[in-house]
Amino acid sequence: MPLTIPPHLLPADGRFGSGPSKVRPGQVDHLVANAHVLGTSHRRPPVKDLVRRIRAGVTELLGAPDGYEVVLGNGGATAFWDVATLCLVERRAQHAAFGEFGGKFATATSRAPFLEPSQVITAEPGSVAHLEPADDVDTYATPHNETSTGAMAPVRRPAGPDGAVVLTDATSGAGALPVDLSETDAYYFAPQKAFAADGGLWLAVLSPAAVERAARIEASGRWVPEFLSLTTAVENSRQDQTLNTPAVATLLLLADQVEWLLAQGGLAWSAKRSAASAEILYSWAEQRDWATPFVARPEERSTVVGTIDLADEIDAGRIITELSANGVQDVFAYRKLGRNQLRVGMYPAVDPDDVAALTACVDYLVETV
Ligand SMILES: *Cc1c(COP(=O)(O)O)cnc(C)c1O
Repeated sequence: MPLTIPPHLLPADGRFGSGPSKVRPGQVDHLVANAHVLGTSHRRPPVKDLVRRIRAGVTELLGAPDGYEVVLGNGGATAFWDVATLCLVERRAQHAAFGEFGGKFATATSRAPFLEPSQVITAEPGSVAHLEPADDVDTYATPHNETSTGAMAPVRRPAGPDGAVVLTDATSGAGALPVDLSETDAYYFAPQKAFAADGGLWLAVLSPAAVERAARIEASGRWVPEFLSLTTAVENSRQDQTLNTPAVATLLLLADQVEWLLAQGGLAWSAKRSAASAEILYSWAEQRDWATPFVARPEERSTVVGTIDLADEIDAGRIITELSANGVQDVFAYRKLGRNQLRVGMYPAVDPDDVAALTACVDYLVETV
């Protein structure tokens, strides 16, 4: 028999997934209001206008410097790792890997037979590995926010060598963490985290250097499948299209979220809202002797994905099951991390009051179970 959490403790919305994440009801309204666009051609104005809105909105929201452009394609952030391996890494990459996602991209470049073995700088889960200036790499890669562990890193361009490009996996950071895009050449993400849409797309804000790098590598004779060609994606995006058919519903959800974030006050507003949620979560954990923020250094604690270790005598799995039975969803630790942990998505769509309510629900279950 599941326990019944007293209704006055429950959050108004119980979706705390780290991705897919809470979709706001307003986005669903936007989808319904634009239902006439569903099932129409992605080569015609109704859908191309949608792509144009997204490209313009992301440019504004993230403060893209002059000359940077928003490019998109199908396949999610995972596809972009292959795009970048093929089209952006010239000879050798350096990766900062401090969790599952950073590690996966490092594996992708390390396995590419046309590249030299990648330099991989690692750190224990729950901490951050930093990029280091190196003469023998042409590409630097790091996550902005490591969704699997809840650690975040500042976006900073290492000093030299000249011409090196920086690739930032911003899948869970973009739209909710402050960033100066002049510090990176490809700030890429999928829309099912802070942008509260569905998965399946990748977007990248590219510097002129990244666009030029891809054009040069792709003209050099390296075999690049058309689906993974960054230059092809750039050419299509400039016409507000994707190479092949996108999910139009996802575009509608994404466009509405980008415009909602801008209307609320842009990135400064969303970063502040997520930070307010994070402050509630981490200070709650610090005040309980059975809960501890997993990330030791406060400045590395993610303000978008919070990870809280529970004492051994409390079974996080049981807490997660009881929460779920009461409509509070998806606060499980990343599966491969295997910790007795709660992980809480605190993207801008999530109301900080609901994070406070979640902590009250956990308190109730710890006392009652
Ligand atoms: C979710 C996530 C990915 C994978 O995104 P997909 O769209 O599922 O491929 C990659 N990197 C980070 C940091 C993520 O959070």
